[in-house]
Formats: sequence, C-alpha cells, structure tokens
Amino acid sequence: MVPERYRRLRSLPMDFAWTDEQNELRGRARKVAEDAVARYGRFNDSWINGFSKEFSLELAALGWIGMTWPVEHGGGGRPPIERLIVAEEMIAAGAPVSASWFGDRQMGPTLIAFGTPDQLEAFLPGILAGTSTWCIGMSEPEAGSDLASLRTSAARDGDDFVINGQKIWTSFAAVADYCYLICRTSSEGPPHAGISEVIVPMDTPGIEVRQIQDLSTNRHFCEVFFTDVRVPTTNLVGVEGGAFKQTMRQLEHERGGIDRLLSNYALFRAAMARADLTDPLVRQDVARLETAYRLGRLLVTRSVLGQGPPAFSAATKCFCTEHEFRVAQFAAAVLGPDATLWDPLAQGMVYAPAYTIMGGTSNVMRNIIGERTLGLPREPVAR
Ligand SMILES: Cc1cc2nc3c(=O)[nH]c(=O)nc-3n(C[C@H](O)[C@H](O)[C@H](O)COP(=O)(O)OP(=O)(O)OC[C@H]3O[C@@H](n4cnc5c(N)ncnc54)[C@H](O)[C@@H]3O)c2cc1C
Repeated sequence: MVPERYRRLRSLPMDFAWTDEQNELRGRARKVAEDAVARYGRFNDSWINGFSKEFSLELAALGWIGMTWPVEHGGGGRPPIERLIVAEEMIAAGAPVSASWFGDRQMGPTLIAFGTPDQLEAFLPGILAGTSTWCIGMSEPEAGSDLASLRTSAARDGDDFVINGQKIWTSFAAVADYCYLICRTSSEGPPHAGISEVIVPMDTPGIEVRQIQDLSTNRHFCEVFFTDVRVPTTNLVGVEGGAFKQTMRQLEHERGGIDRLLSNYALFRAAMARADLTDPLVRQDVARLETAYRLGRLLVTRSVLGQGPPAFSAATKCFCTEHEFRVAQFAAAVLGPDATLWDPLAQGMVYAPAYTIMGGTSNVMRNIIGERTLGLPREPVAR
C-alpha cells in the first residue's frame, strides 16, 4: 500500500523552474559577484584560490555566510537551494570567496552537529562575520586516501592535549586562524578507532607552516608541523577516539556542493570566447560539456537537498570533478599552441589534475559508491 503523501507527490509533475524569489536572489548574487570581480579580480578556482578577507566581510554583511544554518545558531535558516544559487553565481564568476569557504561549507555545520555549546559560542560568530579563516588538517605524508592510518597524535596532559606530527596539503594553513585537526588520541584497537577532532588556533606556539607552490604558482596549500603544541582539552569536538564517523560526515559537506562542478567555469567561458564554434569537432565537445554541466547540476541539487541515497556525494564529486578535468582539456585544445603562454588560462589548465584528487580521489569515490551506495562487497569474492 503506497502511503497517501507519496501518492500525492507522484501525481505532481517534476518542476525544474526557479521561483521568482530564487530568480531575484540569483540576479542580486550575480551583480555582487561581477562587482567583486571588478574590484578584486577574477580567480580560477575561486573557492580555493580567490582569497580576500575584505570580500568575506561583504558576504557576511549580506547574510551570505551561514545562510542555511539554524537561526538559533546565528545562521539565516534559509533553504539549501538558496545557498546553492549564491555559491553558483560567486564561483561561476570567479569571485574571491575562499577566505570564508571552509568555515561556511564545513566547519560551521560540523560544529553545529557535534560541538559543545561553549564551542558554538566561541567559534561560530567569527565564521558568520567573515572574520575567521579555517584550514582542515587531515592528510599526512603517509595518510591521504587511507586517512585511518594517520599518525599525528594528541596526548592528554592535565587539561591540555599535546600535539605532535605533520600534516600536508593543508589549504589556507598560512593564513588560517584555526586548524580543524584530525588526529590520533589512542593507538589501541583497529586503525579507524582512536581518531579525534581538535580545534587548534594557528597562533599556538610549536606550529610551523611551510607553503607549497604548485605548478600553477598557487600557494594555498602547505606543510604543517606540530611540535609539543598545547591546546585545551575543551577544544575536542565530539567523541574522543570516535571521530572517524564525524569526519566522514564532514566530508559529505565537502564533496556534494556546486564548488565541485564550477571550479573552472571561468576557464570554460574564456575558452568558449576563443573557440571556433563552426568547427564540427569543437561543437561536439561543447555539446558534451554543456550536457555534463546540466547533469552535474542535477546531481549537486540532489546532494544539497539531501535527497540522494547513502554516500551519494561521492558520485556527485566523482562525476563533477572528472567533468572539470575535461573542461581544462577542452580549453587546451581550443587554445592550441597559445596554451603554452603563461597566463591565467594556462594556469587554470595546469591546475586541472587537482580536481579529482582533492577531497578524495576518483578511485576512492568509486570505492565508496560501490560499497556504501550500491552495497557491493568490500573484497572481491573468491570463486
Ligand atoms: C588542491 C588540493 C587541495 C588539498 N587540500 C587539502 C586540505 O585542505 N586538507 C587536507 O587534509 N588535505 C588536502 N588535500 C589532500 C587530498 O585530500 C589528498 O591528496 C587525497 O586525499 C589523496 O591522498 P594522497 O595524495 O596521499 O594520495 P594516495 O592516497 O597516496 O593515492 C595515490 C593513488 O592511489 C590511489 N588509491 C589510494 N587508495 C586507493 C584505494 N583504496 N582504491 C583505489 N585506489 C586507491 C589514489 O586514487 C591515487 O591515484 C588537498 C589536495 C589537493 C590536490
């Protein structure tokens, strides 16, 4: 027997049109984004490479940070689709949103889900005001895809944790106020046990940050060394030694959003402006890419609305970032020999391998889809 509410839903046609209010919000966001680009410049991959504290303050003043967070925690209490619209306009235009991006996308929602009242009071206002920048300390030299093998330790000593170890590829570490650190508080039991999440102010003595310059000359990610770094045990978020599930949930925020589809949309637009649209092969490519943009947007929308099956953000991330890589290939083909000139277009192209690595590689996303979405066995079955 199909419940009544589902029977009613079935009789409704699927409506993909935006409401007047949503169109109005999109129009406003587009203007703000264009204005920001005019004042601060256009950035490739602007959610990770477009850093402007000033623009974060402006976003905060517009109520566009923490848009969807509950009102009782200072958020806007607005539907996820509105954040999607604003973020889509900002990133498509290349506006510099990165100074507040991790806090807004990930740290705020994670603290709301797992933090103590004191932590919410201490850390949410800075994120909402656009004044605090966060970095995420997960990956280590010997622990990337296999996060459970991480070794950075936090040992209890009275009312403090004493932290020792090294992180790598930590985006924003050189400019962040806080690190959301994933570390080991116990080495007992299986590897994924004993993992905890601790907030570390980046001005704590004992932290050394070394910036890494990538091929495109970006310097957002860093090595971070922790030597006897003391933070109060009250900075522990959630369950001590039981944070692996928390971290996996946090990664869902990181993987299913519009930032995974539109990182290099500015590059796509620039390539389109130079493309010979009468060339049959170019037209085939354009049709393929435009189709993928539309499919990707549907996947993102489903992820953002929380309507996908378990771990669906892995599918969204995998499809969308592989599309971003193809966008860069298209730009290279369109530019031909000009692609070797060192300009923002070339920088955008050489950054492309990062898309399917950061936030978890495509191989790992496919493992997650297989095991958690499709329920396939973890190991090959012996014949
Ligand atoms: C631009 C950028 C920004 C980043 N920012 C951050 C950040 O802010 N904070 C942070 O903590 N990290 C960050 N990272 C690191 C990123 O999360 C890791 O690079 C990623 O998880 C992969 O880990 P790894 O580099 O150690 O590669 P490895 O895990 O060593 O993987 C190497 C290869 O083996 C494959 N592989 C590994 N395990 C499996 C498996 N089980 N099944 C199939 N294939 C497998 C991978 O797909 C890959 O091809 C960033 C990376 C990039 C590129």
